[in-house]
Amino acid sequence: MIAPIALRSVLHSDIEYVKHGFPCICPSKEGSWPVMRQVYSHELEWFKAADGFQLWFYDPGGCMCERCRRDLCGPLVRQAEEFSRLAWGKNPCAEFQVSMWPIWEWEARLGRRYGVELLDRLRSCFAENHRQIAIVDSAEVPGSFLDAAKGRGFRTQAFLFSADVETPFVFLNPQFGYLRETAARIAAKGYDGGLLHSLSPGSKMLSTLAGALALWNPRSSEDELAQATAVRFTGEETAARQLAPVLRKWEKLLLDGNPGAEAGGHLRREVEKVMSRLPEESRRRMEPILDSARAIEVLAAAAAAKHDSARQRELAVRFRVVLEASPTFRAFAAQGAAEFPHLVEWMTIGWKGRHF
Ligand SMILES: [Zn+2]
Repeated sequence: MIAPIALRSVLHSDIEYVKHGFPCICPSKEGSWPVMRQVYSHELEWFKAADGFQLWFYDPGGCMCERCRRDLCGPLVRQAEEFSRLAWGKNPCAEFQVSMWPIWEWEARLGRRYGVELLDRLRSCFAENHRQIAIVDSAEVPGSFLDAAKGRGFRTQAFLFSADVETPFVFLNPQFGYLRETAARIAAKGYDGGLLHSLSPGSKMLSTLAGALALWNPRSSEDELAQATAVRFTGEETAARQLAPVLRKWEKLLLDGNPGAEAGGHLRREVEKVMSRLPEESRRRMEPILDSARAIEVLAAAAAAKHDSARQRELAVRFRVVLEASPTFRAFAAQGAAEFPHLVEWMTIGWKGRHF
């Protein structure tokens, strides 16, 4: 038990996350490298059948110590070089992706530009092999490095969030409009691919599925996407035609905010109605959607009663009960209960008002 404590105090990085318990270490300290290699070697071994591996710098690169600040790009290039070698050693066919997100944000905070320099240094570090590297960044922010990466001959992967990770909203968030527009923009830009970022894959599976369908066919309309998502859950076209408009209403509810006390209950009853006509196996597949509707029902009621503290307490208890009863959301119950006020606040504001 002594070793990890000693390691942390000697190797830890100078970055805010360390104060919150994240085990970030400084890449400018030589002792960090054997630890990183050992940890990532095990992780890559576990997942070596994956189609691709991503390197995410912990924001600017994991450290803001004096040595790391001197040359912000140096430790990042070394990570790309060392970990791509490790990854290709495990799986030579995997795509190695380097995420630039959100270096544009850090450039603004630090008052230093280093994203383009990083691309140039990666380009010369990998020489002709740079075509096997994909640069990952947002397709949505003006400062994104995707075009600069494409111009330098890297492959490009645009990534998107469809849920507010800060709140964190893990329930079905069928943003068909956003997904359609973003997938079409990624295709029009000629990027090599698009990917969804899903921080809690179990409970965010519902939204991830809708996003994957949008990326799979960027020409789909919102209604086609809703129908395709509904087919995956109901297993049949007729029931899907009943569920799809419910999913579109669901989308609107989360987009606009202030849904009204009854809106969530209405969604839940509509989902139950579709389920009641389905065979047992399809009903089981729909359970996560129903659980999601039950959670949103409580959140919508709480958003409508935000000035009634007694009602808030009562609904907070009900929210936890709903989560604990759900196989999909049970693991999120404690965190969800703690996040209840934030989730209610976000439900009031809506996705148009605030999203990540
Ligand atoms: Zn450092």
